[in-house]
Amino acid sequence: MKKIVIAIDGFSSTGKSTIAKQLAKTLNYIYVDTGAMYRAVAYFALENKFISEDVFDKEALISRLGDISITFKFNEAVGFAEVYLNGKNIEADIRTLRISKFVSPIATLSEVRRKLVEQQQLMGKDKGVVMDGRDIGTVVFPDAELKIFMTASAETRAKRRYNELLDRGDQLSYEDVLENVTTRDHIDSTREDSPLVRADDALEIDNSNLTIKEQLERLIGLAEELISK
Ligand code: C5P
Repeated sequence: MKKIVIAIDGFSSTGKSTIAKQLAKTLNYIYVDTGAMYRAVAYFALENKFISEDVFDKEALISRLGDISITFKFNEAVGFAEVYLNGKNIEADIRTLRISKFVSPIATLSEVRRKLVEQQQLMGKDKGVVMDGRDIGTVVFPDAELKIFMTASAETRAKRRYNELLDRGDQLSYEDVLENVTTRDHIDSTREDSPLVRADDALEIDNSNLTIKEQLERLIGLAEELISK
């Protein structure tokens, strides 16, 4: 059976990972959450005090990139691969608003991007992969057979993320989440290296008014058509 690469890019909290995970499961493909990899680097930088409200010691972080090993391990209980930093499961630790605040400045660093993109290309080299992020269809896999660019209004996205964080028991305000989503989008879209842009050949889906089921059906249809070609 022919295998393809499916690249799903888009703004923060557009539900990319929810769809990507389910699509990968349906097709029996590997799912790679590249945002988790940038979040893991942010976690490492915070732990080592290379970044805080007042400091961003880029050189120190860059000099320690060799000490960062990011891996994924499938967890049967949750049904997806969780992210590990140097052997430690950090899946829950990287989903906080604190990590979300520091991840985009870290993702502007070319040295960080080079390291993670190389690993992502290795993970998808045999195809049969659904990868979500910001630069998958433009930089990581410019030849991906299926490219999706997800959008939704900033308010819809902030609402979704806010509810997700509330469900986890985090204490925060909707305004803080909205602020974070719009700031991240701005940094991600305007950075010099691999900015978030829609690839010319990506299909744009505004999912503000679409259910997960509707999106999934559409993507499965598109993927199956390409696979059977
Ligand atoms: O997807 P998620 O929201 O978890 O990504 C967190 C951050 O990681 C993004 O806001 C962006 O700054 C960065 N990122 C990136 N390139 C990717 C994936 C994520 O720059 N391919």
